[in-house]
Amino acid sequence: VITRKIHNLGHLVLESVSGSDLDIVNSARVSFNESSQGMDDRNRGLINFLMRERHGTPFEAPTIRWDVKAPIFVFREWHRHRIGWSYNEHSARYSVIPNEYYIPEPESITTQVGKPGEYTFEPMDEMESETYRGIIAATQHNSFTAYERMLEAGVAKQVARAVLPVGTYSRMKAGCNLRSAMHFLSLRNHAQAQYEIRAYAEVMEEMLAEHFPVAIEAFVKNGRVCP
Ligand SMILES: Cc1cc2nc3c(=O)[nH]c(=O)nc-3n(C[C@H](O)[C@H](O)[C@H](O)COP(=O)(O)OP(=O)(O)OC[C@H]3O[C@@H](n4cnc5c(N)ncnc54)[C@H](O)[C@@H]3O)c2cc1C
Repeated sequence: VITRKIHNLGHLVLESVSGSDLDIVNSARVSFNESSQGMDDRNRGLINFLMRERHGTPFEAPTIRWDVKAPIFVFREWHRHRIGWSYNEHSARYSVIPNEYYIPEPESITTQVGKPGEYTFEPMDEMESETYRGIIAATQHNSFTAYERMLEAGVAKQVARAVLPVGTYSRMKAGCNLRSAMHFLSLRNHAQAQYEIRAYAEVMEEMLAEHFPVAIEAFVKNGRVCP
């Protein structure tokens, strides 16, 4: 199990991986009623060919399971990825949500400059960043005070959670196949993706590169387009 801390309190844990580059090769080679026993230059070439020509289904052979802790707004983005993914999330109906929330690093407090479709996110000066970090922390703190007060008064957890902001941390189990993971990476480990989800996607890509070195190298080499 490989664990990486992300942001102030988040994490990405690679819980299990089934399959390898060789399984991708053999999923393709079954077309010709053939199979390989190990990776060699011919098989590396085959993976690159499959990636380049977007023969995607052999990349569905490996499966991966993650444990993820991230702010709710990151989960909102993540859960838009429907195909090939399966999710189970901590329930705010059945259990109390821990008092844990996202506080951006000062350099992540940015301002949007430009118009829709053509904008950049620029840093703010240090004083301003600290002010807005303080506002985020105070708002979260006040929300948790209200949440805990309602729980103490006997309000049901499923109702009291209504006051918790999207910066609150949640936890989930997420599983997918390698092809779905690459589709996720193509959109979320990308300059256009929001920094907070990209931080997870960057770590995910590093972890996948250790298990599927040939497939991930081919993915990057072919423009990071999902096959
Ligand atoms: C930078 C960025 C900004 C975004 N902004 C917004 C936003 O403002 N508002 C918003 O609502 N979402 C937004 N999204 C989310 C985006 O619209 C997608 O929901 C998300 O990226 C998941 O992509 P997907 O549908 O390709 O993935 P998946 O759901 O995993 O689907 C994978 C692929 O399967 C196929 N597919 C899946 N479902 C269908 C279907 N019903 N019909 C036909 N083909 C299908 C498509 O080829 C799709 O690419 C944004 C995403 C990014 C990366």
